Amino acid sequence: MAVTIGIDLGGSRIKGGIIEQDGTLRNSMMAKTRISFGYDALVTQLAELIEQLRFCAKDRLEGIGIGIPGLIDNNSFKVINSQNIDILDGHAVASDLTRKTGLPVVMSNDADCMAIGEGLSGAAKDVKHYIAVTLGTGVGGAIVSNGVLIQGVNGGGGEIGHMSIDMNGPECSCGALGCLEAYIGREGIRHYVKASYPKLVDTSLKKLCEMAIKGNESAANIYWHIGHYLGIGLASLVNIFNPQIIVVGGGIAGAGDLLLKPLENELKLRALNSYAENIEVRAAELGNWAGVVGAGSLAWKNGAR
Ligand SMILES: [Zn+2]
Repeated sequence: MAVTIGIDLGGSRIKGGIIEQDGTLRNSMMAKTRISFGYDALVTQLAELIEQLRFCAKDRLEGIGIGIPGLIDNNSFKVINSQNIDILDGHAVASDLTRKTGLPVVMSNDADCMAIGEGLSGAAKDVKHYIAVTLGTGVGGAIVSNGVLIQGVNGGGGEIGHMSIDMNGPECSCGALGCLEAYIGREGIRHYVKASYPKLVDTSLKKLCEMAIKGNESAANIYWHIGHYLGIGLASLVNIFNPQIIVVGGGIAGAGDLLLKPLENELKLRALNSYAENIEVRAAELGNWAGVVGAGSLAWKNGAR
């Protein structure tokens, strides 16, 4: 049996694992991302993780796929811009890793990898038309239509977070006004909580999720707020792409109906009736490992075999 290695490079953690052809993940590993020593040190850290996984693989290794938190130029294969790990900007990470490891490496955007992973063996398995959205520092997303990931001219398609939902809204990190991310990205939520629930100190999604599940009314209201705004944004996408399902992932997927109910309500209110009636909103199934599975599967798809 042949396998690939999947790597999900995040701003705080690097995750990796061996991926079998059906999307099964094994030998998963995680390390703290070493950003402060510069780009070369980060590439060395990635190569070391790959070596460890290679040692565990036992089977024939076909290649490596890596998910990067940022915009990648699919023509030059360089990172155009990474808001979370800016030392990657301008670098051809995949080529540099190939040079270090001697193995074929392909890279893609991390939200795209999450969507591919969920499509391969998670919540969107066997679904051809779906939208995946992931909430974290930013609002990431990917659109799969007829089994094909929509990438656009240079690979930047599917930036759901920078869809304007209010032309007079607050300024977003991208410089535009009223993007979805300006409301429900980490900073947007922090502003909202500070203004509406000033007594809440810890505004991390993980903490709010724990509180909401335990029945804290303020935290539940904040989740309603997030689901409401997410629904407003996704309703437009539902009308445009007519997907079968929407997969919601990231740190908040565990909140379940607290988030998904207001989202579904908003879709019913705003999307065209015939589309909204049949759509299903699902929580991501692969949790924090969808990106690793998706990245590993890229090594198959891109001819590494
Ligand atoms: Zn924006």
